[in-house]
Amino acid sequence: AKAAGGGRTHVFGKALRLELDQQAALEAALGTALTQGEFALHYQPVVATETDVIEGYEALIRWHRPGFGPQPPDTFIPVAEKSDLICEIGRWVLREATGQLSRWTAREPERYGEITVAVNISGRHLAEAGIVADVENALARSGLPAERLVLEITESVLVDVPTAATHLLALKELGVSISIDDFGTGYTSIGQLQRMPADTLKIDKQFVTFTTPADRDLVTLMVRAAHSCGMQVVAEGVETQDQLEELRALAADSVQGYLFARPLPAEAVEGPPGVSREV
Ligand code: C2E
Ligand code: CA
Ligand code: CA
Ligand code: CA
Repeated sequence: AKAAGGGRTHVFGKALRLELDQQAALEAALGTALTQGEFALHYQPVVATETDVIEGYEALIRWHRPGFGPQPPDTFIPVAEKSDLICEIGRWVLREATGQLSRWTAREPERYGEITVAVNISGRHLAEAGIVADVENALARSGLPAERLVLEITESVLVDVPTAATHLLALKELGVSISIDDFGTGYTSIGQLQRMPADTLKIDKQFVTFTTPADRDLVTLMVRAAHSCGMQVVAEGVETQDQLEELRALAADSVQGYLFARPLPAEAVEGPPGVSREV
């Protein structure tokens, strides 16, 4: 019995070691990805519910890991969040996204002059006092007016990070907009909304599928609460025309999802004007 147990431990140890090796390799590869230029941003339009007009784009990071192909953010952002690497990545994303919208605006002011770009900010980065200077620097370098930058912060970060509120107020002073991401997935009571220094509430895609009758009531509630706090509402993950109609009826201001477009590389965004429906 002793030998069998030992054998199991050995096999388990080997599998675990392999996993740890892979994890270490991933961390090492991630550490050089920035300097090697392996990251890219894809852009997904946010569309006004009533008019189909593009109001802005959300920038979503992609990593072209050599030998592995494109990596979705869920596979590496959590790893980057274990160290200050996430702040370095965050600075790069801020510079890249503001620079991109600034270049688009210079080239085609009628098409891009009024729209915003939204950037996802991690909790670790928001917790640092340096976040304010990082945003300021990105705006100064790109020449993009602050009103045209949106910072997306998840609901859980707003609740869990003690310095979040202070830093958000300083960021708002700069003139940028704040959007509460993944709303409905955390533990915020709707009553806490009015104390949050945010301009927009993004309803998480899990509610937008309207799979249960309760989803409709919850979305109705979130829209009303946001509006009564003076916030705009964006619904994310909209995949079907039915969902769009439903969200229109429930007075969500804007929508984002595969129904309109997948996140696309900058060059693909530059195609013919108008919303490309991909479904
Ligand atoms: P998120 O901020 O909630 O972004 C929305 C995610 O939903 C994106 O996944 C987007 O591609 C996906 N999506 C858009 N439309 C639809 C749809 O109609 N249906 C479905 N099922 N999904 C849709 P993605 O690009 O894989 O990003 C995943 C998460 O990674 C993001 O969630 C965000 O939390 C994080 N992330 C992405 N880029 C960055 C970044 O630059 N910095 C940081 N800190 N996090 C990022
Ligand atoms: Ca987001
Ligand atoms: Ca989200
Ligand atoms: Ca999410």
